[in-house]
Amino acid sequence: MPAPVAGFFIESGIICLVIKREIRMYKHPLLNRDKMSPQEALDILIEGNHRFTNSLTVNKDMMSLVSITKDRQHPFASVLSCSDSRAPVEMLFDQALGDIFSVRLAGNIASDKVIGSLEFSSKYLGSKLIVVLGHTDCGAVKAACDNFREGHIGEIINLIRPAVRLEKTTANERDSSNTRFVDNVCALNVQVQINEIIHSSDIIQDMLAAKQIGMVGGIYNLATGEVRFLPETYTL
Ligand SMILES: [Zn+2]
Repeated sequence: MPAPVAGFFIESGIICLVIKREIRMYKHPLLNRDKMSPQEALDILIEGNHRFTNSLTVNKDMMSLVSITKDRQHPFASVLSCSDSRAPVEMLFDQALGDIFSVRLAGNIASDKVIGSLEFSSKYLGSKLIVVLGHTDCGAVKAACDNFREGHIGEIINLIRPAVRLEKTTANERDSSNTRFVDNVCALNVQVQINEIIHSSDIIQDMLAAKQIGMVGGIYNLATGEVRFLPETYTL
C-alpha cells in the first residue's frame, strides 16, 4: 500500500491537515489467474473488502478493462450472493470488470440454475473460488423466518426453510422480529446453500476434491460494509 503523503495549508485562516493518497491504477491480472490458488483468490477478496471499508478503492479505468476483457473472461472467483441492492459484490470487494462471476438471487439460494452457472464458471472459465455470501437483514431470510408466501416468492422461501429448521437455539420469537434469530438463520442458510451445491454437483465435488477450486461462505454486514468469512464453511 502506498504511504500517505501529509502536508499543511492555510485556508480562511485555518490550518488544515491534508492527507493525500497516491492514486493506484488497477492492474487486471488476467494472465496470471491459471496459477492462482483458491486461498490466493480468497486473500484478494479479503484485501478488496478491506479497501472498501477504508475508502481506499483502487482507481479503475473501466474502458481500458472493457478492451482487455473483450475477447475472453477469466474471473478468479464466483460469488453467489443476494440480489439486495445494498450488496453489489464487485463494489464491496473492490473488484472490476472480468474479476468476479456474479450469480445473484434473493436469499443467495442454490437453485439448479445457480449450480449450473457455478459449474460453468469453475470448469470452463477457470474461476478458482466459489463464495456463498449472505448478508445481514436479508429480506428473503426474514421472509423465510415468517414463512411468507405470495406468488413465486414461496419458491425462494422453500430453499431457505431448511436453515430455519436447523436453527435450534431459539425457543421463542422464531420470526423476523428477533434479530438474533434472523442472524443465526442467515449464517445457517449460507451453510445450507454450500451443502446443496456440493451434494448436487459432481463437477464441483470433483474439482473441490482435486483442489482445483475452493469454496467458502461469508456474511456481508450492511451496517459496516465488512464481509465476515466463516472458516467453518471452508473447503480450501
Ligand atoms: Zn438478501
